Amino acid sequence: MTASAFAVLFVGALAVSLALRLWLAYRHVGHVAARRDAVPAAFAERIALPAHRKAADYTVARTRLGVAEALAETAVLVALTLGGGLAALVAWTDILPFGGMGRDLFLIAAVALISGVVGLPFSYAQTFGIEVRFGFNRTTRALWLTDLLKGILIGAVLGLPLAALMLWLMRAAGPLWWIWAWTAWIAFQFLLLALYPTVIAPLFNRFSPMPAGAARDTVEALLARCGFANRGLYVMDGSRRSSHGNAFFTGFGRAKRIVFFDTLLERLTPDEVEAVLAHELGHFKLKHVLKRMLWMAAFSLAFLALLAWLAASPWFYEGLGVPPAPDRPGVALLLFFLALPVFTFFLAPLSSLYSRRHEFEADLFAAKNASARSLVRALVKLYEDDAATLTPDPLYSAFHDSHPPAAVRIARLDVA
Ligand SMILES: [Zn+2]
Repeated sequence: MTASAFAVLFVGALAVSLALRLWLAYRHVGHVAARRDAVPAAFAERIALPAHRKAADYTVARTRLGVAEALAETAVLVALTLGGGLAALVAWTDILPFGGMGRDLFLIAAVALISGVVGLPFSYAQTFGIEVRFGFNRTTRALWLTDLLKGILIGAVLGLPLAALMLWLMRAAGPLWWIWAWTAWIAFQFLLLALYPTVIAPLFNRFSPMPAGAARDTVEALLARCGFANRGLYVMDGSRRSSHGNAFFTGFGRAKRIVFFDTLLERLTPDEVEAVLAHELGHFKLKHVLKRMLWMAAFSLAFLALLAWLAASPWFYEGLGVPPAPDRPGVALLLFFLALPVFTFFLAPLSSLYSRRHEFEADLFAAKNASARSLVRALVKLYEDDAATLTPDPLYSAFHDSHPPAAVRIARLDVA
């Protein structure tokens, strides 16, 4: 491979992925807008026209913002790589007074800061533009800013030592450094799993034990029936930020906790809560979570092996607009993580397909262990509360959606 051939490959993949993204968004917006004034027949009795219109408008607004963000991200990526931005940052950090690793950490922090700043207006527009306009937002500007600062702090506390460890391994662990790096990466994932429910999540939300009552009794009976051990049922004050509802598991092994958003418990009846939890339980019992983690582990090993090869290839640096810097592993690391999403974008439909298959299986598990009818009622309420469109463009949905469209999911449950 030569530098110019790789540059052509990179620009080609970037152009095709951006064009594909824009074309899918254009189709999606058109498809949803054209069906705005009629509730699909299967939902005529379940969803009212104003709610259907709201979902259409919400979907169009979010898709348009997503397009603007994709354009901005592409512009920054081009500026950093072929535009010479990263090359300038590398030259600038080369003259810093501190030694090898310090310069690379500084460089990584600078690029993280740049991509963070680019994403900020979009995150702000999403929360205080779209979410406010559609009546979902409950967060204040002060809380939003505090969340942002906490996120940066956590990112620095966890991310910088990880980056330092990776850089050290790249430099000191010999040609098979990527295997060591992979071991460290997996250990880091377990650390995150352990820290998330106990240390990280409580920084953002309050967790209280689920109050006694009908919902708790139903949920406990379901867990006993399915032989599921857990370390407690919690309610999270999701209503502080948004009216969207959810339920999830955190932690691993015997330290698993089940968390319900307060907004979910407010909206659903006990049998609907049971059905939603049965779906989540299905993901565990059918080993979806484990399978996903194994896939992630396999992919990260392959990517690290790829990085090891690329870091030793001068054309990789030159093709992305940076002079080869074998003594600065941070440069290869950054270029790799900047360029990788351009190529992995084309795998998105496969990942979505895999995930949607798991959703159907979890729905079926819920239908068997709780009730298909309750799950349908819960899904209709959740789709309505989230203003999720009932009429996505099929191609857009096949490419991007990790969850099947409501109509397809409910049609399957109706016969289950
Ligand atoms: Zn699911």
